[in-house]
Amino acid sequence: MADFDVDLFVIGGGSGGVRAARIAAGHGARVTVAEEYRMGGTCVIRGCVPKKLFVIGSHVRQEIADAAGFGWTIPTATFDWPTLIRNKDKEIARLEAAYAANVEKSGARIVKTRAVLEDAHTVRLATGETVRAKTILIATGGAPNHGTPIPGIEHVISSNEAFHLDELPRRIVIQGGGYIALEFACIFANFGSDVTVVYRGDNILRGFDEDVRKHVRAEMEKEGITILTGCTVASVDKHGKDYTTHLSNGSSIASDKVMFAIGRHPAVANLGLEKAGVAINPRNGGIAVDAFSQSSVPSIYAIGDVTHRFNLTPVAIREGHAFADTVFGNKTVRVDHADIPTAVFCQPEVGTVGLTETQARELHDRVDIYKTSFRPIKATMSGRDTRVLMKLVVDGATDRVLGCHIVGDMAAEITQAVAIAIKMKATKADFDATVALHPSAAEELVTMR
Ligand code: NDP
Repeated sequence: MADFDVDLFVIGGGSGGVRAARIAAGHGARVTVAEEYRMGGTCVIRGCVPKKLFVIGSHVRQEIADAAGFGWTIPTATFDWPTLIRNKDKEIARLEAAYAANVEKSGARIVKTRAVLEDAHTVRLATGETVRAKTILIATGGAPNHGTPIPGIEHVISSNEAFHLDELPRRIVIQGGGYIALEFACIFANFGSDVTVVYRGDNILRGFDEDVRKHVRAEMEKEGITILTGCTVASVDKHGKDYTTHLSNGSSIASDKVMFAIGRHPAVANLGLEKAGVAINPRNGGIAVDAFSQSSVPSIYAIGDVTHRFNLTPVAIREGHAFADTVFGNKTVRVDHADIPTAVFCQPEVGTVGLTETQARELHDRVDIYKTSFRPIKATMSGRDTRVLMKLVVDGATDRVLGCHIVGDMAAEITQAVAIAIKMKATKADFDATVALHPSAAEELVTMR
């Protein structure tokens, strides 16, 4: 031990790195965390948290419109984008400070600088100083993809910039059909922008249950979002403050912002990985790790988006915690990556856990499907043209519920609770034996026959 300056050096102060640092320090390890930008990482600074604040703010528009059916007359509402940005920035700064304070409270030290690997036990800081660590954890996260270079790519923003726009775009083109594209499409549309989604495949949300994909698309189109499929952005021209986006199908769209949300890549560049001998996973470009997040170099571990396994904050946190317990807590913990619930905060929201119908049919001989689509009670008075989708995927042989897919208000909240049942291997009979909670949308999950 005497040879090392610290027991653990964490590169990256995001959710995963911070959790690992705090737990390891709690186990008595001497820990340093290096962060070159802001403590909190993608989730806190430019991801889940500011996005959710935008989502909540954007829903107010529909709440106001829906209020009339319940007797409310609301004087003309106005929305001020700079106020939203200012208040969001204030909250993010508060969280950033809380992250730093919690790390320091745990006994770990923060160095606000870039750190790169020199060898299996050494990191070099941007200051030129080197630190010898018994164990190194890489938790550098990921960054937005820009795709193959197209003419005008310099005019295109990613979600990073979308959080800091000076003004709400009147018209925006968003390329991509996944989480970020759809979440921002709904955010901007709800705030009043004219939104066009450009997606290369035949339907958005590839990988999600087919019924979910159709349902979400129909709901977004009903709210006035244009979804163009089977095409890509070929080039972008700028004229003053306006842009023309030329598509691969020959058409073009005028807008005042163009955004790409076409996936994210692991932040592995210029980290000294080759120098230290850390292998990259050829399948996904992330750092190759085993079930305990150990890389090809025994003293170097990696967790979270930089491994490109499941790019979700709670997964990175789990991986960081399990790493710290295993390496410093004398407790071997392996992260179970099965049945991870996830939500897309488009509107209406998607909540999903477990297998899609297609996946279940590939794995099981007999699959029973229970699904319902209905008008939520609020819409009966508000007059809004919207429907909820609920679907259970059940193994016909064992009666076990393999998957649950919901599109509708509160889908994320409902899915989190259903995920416990699915994790506990609940059967459809267990769902049926549960008394409905009335009146709720979620009661459909225990009344579908
Ligand atoms: P996604 O992987 O969800 O979606 C990427 C989209 O871009 C897909 O529709 C994909 O199409 C399309 N695409 C990929 N490459 C190209 C290309 N070269 N040209 C045109 N289109 C392309 O990535 P996101 O960027 O939306 O989000 C990144 C990750 O961050 C998510 O996968 C998720 O893990 C995480 N995230 C989670 C959130 C949550 O939990 N609510 C919110 C935001 C992000 P195709 O389907 O055909 O491949």
